[in-house]
Amino acid sequence: PTPPRMRKALGRFASGVTIVTTAEGPGEESVHGMTANAFTSVSLDPPLVLVSIANRARMNDKITETGRYGVSILAGDQEPLSLHFAGAAHEPDLVRFTWRRGVPLLDGALVHLSCTVTDSHPAGDHTLHVGQVEELWYDNGRPLLFYTGSFRALDLQGTSDGWG
Ligand code: FAD
Ligand code: NAD
Repeated sequence: PTPPRMRKALGRFASGVTIVTTAEGPGEESVHGMTANAFTSVSLDPPLVLVSIANRARMNDKITETGRYGVSILAGDQEPLSLHFAGAAHEPDLVRFTWRRGVPLLDGALVHLSCTVTDSHPAGDHTLHVGQVEELWYDNGRPLLFYTGSFRALDLQGTSDGWG
């Protein structure tokens, strides 16, 4: 299949949206963030996740250098932040970081994960960075969704909200 057909097909897999972050030092000036939906829960014991980062993305070299990354799972009202960290909009005033275990995470997100890279696997034009979750935090709320190349909201009306 050609890349456009891959995108058409795989865009039918509905996902949440994350911002992956990393920092080369303790200050905000060293933070880099990037929007990613190729995020997966991998293992509970040990607690592992993975992110798939394009080799040509600046983020790929940065994660390789720092060996740490954060994952912020975005809330339903954070589409502008998602566009900002994909380079498709300029919304610097919306960007606020909270630090957990030396990793920056986005304020207003539903979930924060602070991870240390355990393995990085080359995979075609991307690299899979497996991370051990060192600390996590979560809140209740509506998630931001990505489906067929568009942002969506999850309609929770008339359903159990599923928050445990
Ligand atoms: P840049 O393009 O240089 O930076 C990204 C943007 O973030 C820039 O606008 C920059 O100004 C801003 N930024 C970075 N750090 C900061 C900071 N500290 N403070 C304020 N602003 C900052 N690509 C993948 O590789 N994997 C995926 O899973 C993936 N999923 C995506 C899902 C969606 C819904 C979208 C829209 C895009 C996705 N992308 C994914 C594409 C990826 O987000 C873009 O290609 C992105 O621009 C690559 O970022 P970069 O690391 O090359 O850095
Ligand atoms: P789109 O229609 O390109 O995305 C639909 C689906 O295709 C995505 O959910 C993903 O599964 C897949 N996909 C798209 N681009 C990919 C890539 N370069 N590598 C691997 N899988 C990819 O959505 P869009 O609104 O046109 O996306 C905006 C930008 O963000 C585009 O430049 C797109 O390439 C990029 N993006 C990259 C990834 C990724 O690298 N995994 C995922 C989503 C979007």
